[in-house]
Amino acid sequence: MTTINGKKDHDLPLEKEIEQFLLERGAIKVGFATRETLAGPPNADITYIIPEARSAISYALPFDKDIIRDYLSKKDFDGHEKNRFDLNYRSIKISNELAQWLTEKGYESKRIISNNNYKKEIKGWQATMPPRLSHRYVAVASGVGSFGWSGNVGMKGYGTTILLGTVVTTAELEPTQPLPPEESFCTKCKLCTKVCSAEMFSKDEEVTFTLGGIEYTHSARNGYVRCQYVCGGFTGLHKNGKFSTWSPGRFPIPETNEEIYKAMGRAVRRYATWPERTRKDGYINESAPGINIRLTCGFCQNICWGNPKDTAENYKIITESGCIIQNLDGSMTVLPPKEAEEYFRSLPKKHQKKYCIDRT
Ligand code: SF4
Ligand code: SF4
Repeated sequence: MTTINGKKDHDLPLEKEIEQFLLERGAIKVGFATRETLAGPPNADITYIIPEARSAISYALPFDKDIIRDYLSKKDFDGHEKNRFDLNYRSIKISNELAQWLTEKGYESKRIISNNNYKKEIKGWQATMPPRLSHRYVAVASGVGSFGWSGNVGMKGYGTTILLGTVVTTAELEPTQPLPPEESFCTKCKLCTKVCSAEMFSKDEEVTFTLGGIEYTHSARNGYVRCQYVCGGFTGLHKNGKFSTWSPGRFPIPETNEEIYKAMGRAVRRYATWPERTRKDGYINESAPGINIRLTCGFCQNICWGNPKDTAENYKIITESGCIIQNLDGSMTVLPPKEAEEYFRSLPKKHQKKYCIDRT
């Protein structure tokens, strides 16, 4: 008989067994949602994954905050990229194990991979990126976390520096309660909006929607194309010119999404001519086949640590971290904004043209 922690599986309720299973593998919180507690948004529909599904299991894994600080201060890109890949891989492995274990117990179960997993039958999915099932909705409905102003999900003490994992199952699990507002990690400091070069989140406008009969609100999102353009690595210099993401792109970030699509088309063609980064890695996103993506931002997620003091410190670190310039050999140089501009202008014109459109 399957055992967890040396106990026979009939010694504990299934929910407790699942919780132990996940905690033993590094989860910091576990929760359960049902069709009823997930009722509402189409991307919260677990029957899309398994028609007879009854429940979804949500859990959170923590990112390494020391590695995040080195990333935000532009001391080290590779460490965070590796931490992100490793954690995503770990979550896929854990979810697979859990789904398999539940299936062996007689409950059809499927894991939802952590990212890059879209409803491709929807027209224009490459732009809107509708997830097969939203990890965020399951996490909020089950009380694993709550929405921050950015719409990212977080927890007190961790903020949004967590990775969510989800498994859908035909097992009938007792739902756990969503977090009450007073348990929210979000202080509405809105620093997440200030570090987004893409201006993806509105500072003032909200969206309100219902999930499982409960009303939730977060900032209005201005279109995922904005994040694809910036976090996808094609450009990174903030409009104020004072700091950048880890992307050496210096293309403009226009006001409208229509203009962004055009700007991104140009930037993607130039991106293909950039020398390879010193550490070769990256991944292919299903929405942009053939392009090796290096996620270069994630600032809205990484800035928010679940307490005002650390989040404010992260804001200072990001905005004083300088600007990235890519050298001819692919390596990166980080300089304060004015020196970065001067250094960029000192590079061969042919090289400059790979990163901007406004130079002759
Ligand atoms: S950075 Fe501030 S406003 Fe944004 S999600 Fe975190 S606490 Fe909320
Ligand atoms: S990852 Fe970067 S570009 Fe994307 S929404 Fe967050 S802050 Fe904006």
